Amino acid sequence: MSDPTIAAEIPRRRTFAIISHPDAGKTTLTERILRAGGAIQMAGNVRAKGERRRTRSDWMNIEKDRGISVVTSVMTFNYGGCVFNLLDTPGHEDFSEDTYRTLTAVDCAVMVIDAAKGIEARTRKLFEICRLRDIPIVTFINKMDREAQDCFALLDEISNALALDVSPATWPVGRAAKFAGIYDLRTKSLHLKEELPEDDERLALMREEVELAEVALPPFEKEFFDEGHLTPVFFGSAMKEIGVTDLLDALAAYGPPPRAQPSETRDVQATEETVTALIFKIQANMDPNHRDRMAFARVCSGKLTRGMRLKHVRTGKQFALHTPQFFFAQDRQLVEEAFAGDVVGIPNHGTLRIGDTLTDGEDLRFTGVPHFAPEILRRVRLDDAMKAKKLRQALVELAEEGVVQLFRPQDGAPPIVGVVGTLQLDVLQSRLQAEYNVPVGFESTPFTLARWVTGDKAALEQFEALNRSAMADDLDGDPVFLAGSGFMMNRAVEMNEALSFHDIKQIG
Ligand code: GDP
Repeated sequence: MSDPTIAAEIPRRRTFAIISHPDAGKTTLTERILRAGGAIQMAGNVRAKGERRRTRSDWMNIEKDRGISVVTSVMTFNYGGCVFNLLDTPGHEDFSEDTYRTLTAVDCAVMVIDAAKGIEARTRKLFEICRLRDIPIVTFINKMDREAQDCFALLDEISNALALDVSPATWPVGRAAKFAGIYDLRTKSLHLKEELPEDDERLALMREEVELAEVALPPFEKEFFDEGHLTPVFFGSAMKEIGVTDLLDALAAYGPPPRAQPSETRDVQATEETVTALIFKIQANMDPNHRDRMAFARVCSGKLTRGMRLKHVRTGKQFALHTPQFFFAQDRQLVEEAFAGDVVGIPNHGTLRIGDTLTDGEDLRFTGVPHFAPEILRRVRLDDAMKAKKLRQALVELAEEGVVQLFRPQDGAPPIVGVVGTLQLDVLQSRLQAEYNVPVGFESTPFTLARWVTGDKAALEQFEALNRSAMADDLDGDPVFLAGSGFMMNRAVEMNEALSFHDIKQIG
């Protein structure tokens, strides 16, 4: 039986993340977007980060102390007839794995660029992740109320640095302290903060530049945008609230709506009636007294409703959705159903893991959620031997949550944790202390590189036997080879042609 609500709801879903280099203005833009979407209450929270954090568990203090945002979450709001799901990503690059996973759950990314600084290192890196999946990118050039680079130079830089066509959607009127608003190239309308006289020199300059831009730069073509080859560019100032609604209007107008999600067997279309969802993020509950965890699931197809029983494909067991949480800023209680593109939080006690698939019966596993080979490997030092068992359990739980990666050496040595950035170790240490009452330290290991090893069974077993002290099993029991240097890793790769060594593992 076909459900008409699915056909009606899918096209009006917009699920996106904001990618940027720290300080470009992501937090400010997020707040302005939420305000424009009427989610003022939420916006208040974004701003009052410090306030909110004070009530959370101890490890959150790391965020507060260092003024960084560790937590990924989702903010849902209505705007322009669309339902927007804005997935927040951690700003600090030590938590980049989290960001990458979140990007597997979006249909579009807004790339925020500081008008004075242009493309920066982290913007570029995050962009590359989006490109891997051909995620359409909308560009917002922020801080036009300050000294900025020449607009053409900025557009050139984006185009060259990212090998991407740029199409200006708006053009700034005035610069720096005299930034007055924008001109919309498609509707040919002016959106100004204040009235300007017809002969204002800022308008004259804008007309001159727009004329040139229209000749020199490609027009917006939705098809190229959808394929991730062309980015529409919006100029503005998040702080002065200029250009923000133009950005949202564009997202509402030309999407993109939820995309198909790749699985091992087939691409699942958003418009399918069958219910599917992908777990892309696990977060500890903010209450340290409960071991509840929140799994964030992106609905990939069908209609998900409260109380529904779904199949947890990895274990084959039934999973009842008793209390899915929706993150609408308004009318929180009224929302009982979610569609493709929506993100719901599912409280659980550790059943759900990153990369898991939930369906209404089909044996289907989504792919594409990555684990990255850690760049820092440390042995966990436990001072109180009585707590060894508790530590083992805690490490598994925190690794399932994605705080660190856990490697169990095959020779029985104490566990090794792997991280991409050292802040992850700080989070692990303070959470072990605060939530499990297990104080630990970290010791160096002889290893600097980790690679997942796959290949012919006999060859793999032989390799493991020969390298026992450098072999470990990851959380899923998959074998990992640890090496002390790039030289040693290369040697292992060269000498074992029957095996493959991977620096990215697709979960699922
Ligand atoms: P994030 O690190 O990307 O989240 O950046 P924030 O939103 O925290 O902004 C970094 C700094 O730039 C803060 O001091 C903001 O007040 C400032 N900022 C953000 N947007 C603008 C803008 O449009 N104009 C100006 N002048 N400053 C801005």
